[in-house]
Amino acid sequence: MDFGFSLAPSSAVNLDTVDLSRYNRLVRLEPDARICMACGSCSATCTAGPFSGMSVRKVLLGLQRGQDAQVNRMLSACMLCGKCTMVCPRGINTRNLILNLCRIAADGSVSKGEGRL
Ligand code: SF4
Ligand code: SF4
Repeated sequence: MDFGFSLAPSSAVNLDTVDLSRYNRLVRLEPDARICMACGSCSATCTAGPFSGMSVRKVLLGLQRGQDAQVNRMLSACMLCGKCTMVCPRGINTRNLILNLCRIAADGSVSKGEGRL
């Protein structure tokens, strides 16, 4: 019987099978990525957020959940304005974090110690 709607696909994430190589590489370049407490201050102030859904908090969570397509979509919307860096209560250089993620995506040659502005 067609009810005109269907169940939403499961949003469950199997953390045992997630490829964390991208996140681990980011942590090597930007160790502060591990101290994010997901407070959402970066999301609330993000210049691109209202138009694109960009959120550093969601980027970091997405990397740990293997949601690569969602992460890439958000990264492409970032304007590198740096507002998120100014409000982060943990003092994470989120702008640099985003730059490093873009470098990792664009070029596999970024190594430890590189990528710091
Ligand atoms: S403001 Fe900083 S601590 Fe808060 S969610 Fe964003 S990156 Fe994480
Ligand atoms: S640097 Fe990017 S993520 Fe941070 S506030 Fe600006 S547009 Fe948003």
